[in-house]
Amino acid sequence: MYCQKGKKMTAKSLFACGLSELKKVLAEAGMPAFRAGQIHDWIFRKFVFSFDEMTNISVADRAMLKEAFPRILPPVHRFLKDSDGTCKVVLKLSDEALIEAVAIPDEDSMTFCLSTQVGCPVGCLFCRTGESGFTRNLTAEEILLQVMVLVKRTGVKPTNIVFMGMGEPFYNRRALFEAIDMLTDPQGLAMATRRITISTSGVIEGIMELIDRPGEVNLAVSLHVADDNGRNTLVPINKRYPLGRLKEAIGTYCDRTGRRVTLEMVLLHNINDQYNDALNLVNFCEGLIVHVNIVRFNHFPGAKYQPASAQNEKEFRRVLKKAGIAVTVRKSRGQEILAACGQLAGKENV
Ligand code: SF4
Repeated sequence: MYCQKGKKMTAKSLFACGLSELKKVLAEAGMPAFRAGQIHDWIFRKFVFSFDEMTNISVADRAMLKEAFPRILPPVHRFLKDSDGTCKVVLKLSDEALIEAVAIPDEDSMTFCLSTQVGCPVGCLFCRTGESGFTRNLTAEEILLQVMVLVKRTGVKPTNIVFMGMGEPFYNRRALFEAIDMLTDPQGLAMATRRITISTSGVIEGIMELIDRPGEVNLAVSLHVADDNGRNTLVPINKRYPLGRLKEAIGTYCDRTGRRVTLEMVLLHNINDQYNDALNLVNFCEGLIVHVNIVRFNHFPGAKYQPASAQNEKEFRRVLKKAGIAVTVRKSRGQEILAACGQLAGKENV
């Protein structure tokens, strides 16, 4: 059995090779075409990750499949669990790249936070992922396998998926949208699109493409600063997509979809937590259907910033509320295991 450009396959997982490879292997082995559907069903509907347990496939075919794909999922490099129940998996991909994905349980929900890139080219100054630079985009299968590994490790299916892990999702649109199509496939995980959120630092082409896609995928924008000078420094992508254009794109999304956009704000002590910063945000929100989510800064080793004081955060919220803007504060989850917002790094020393 062969995988990828004719090389003999030794220890690659099915997901590392890509699902399309499965069909090729089945055809080469002379197995009936419906086998692909059966395998798909076992993996995506029944969450069975061992060929031995796929009992409607003949023993001979199972043996052949095991030879071709010694593993369905890659091994988990590290698995960590926070005392608040949040779990983080670190996966080593076939090229040794490390990525992280997080499962966040709540009373009646389970949110999976997924990565779309190895590292991130955006380089936001308060983010551990941005600090580590950019290596490459993930494939759709590599995005999807994070879901499968988290289901296997937690034993729970996600109720919500957020693309807020490592990377800028809209810089990897092809794989992102392919993964979303697989997650929402009625023959597979069958997730509702409205249970999925893409968080972008402001890639306008991505917002426009999302508007044109079917479904009700939610949009979150990591805004953090609502004046161009400050945002150029803290979120460098702003030089390419300044606030005026970003606001226009968000407005188009709201008008065309009728859906509300979440603006994420990480408040940093003496950087973007002042009265004027709140007023700038009020101006930015004018005319948009938005909701502001204040995210507490999660410290990580070597971080230069401190979270906003409780007093400044309270005042910031007061200004927004007075202007009639819906505002919430996101609970920080998974801090002990460096799994909270801005803490993912894909490093050995998690
Ligand atoms: S906050 Fe998001 S976009 Fe910015 S560097 Fe981190 S992962 Fe990239």
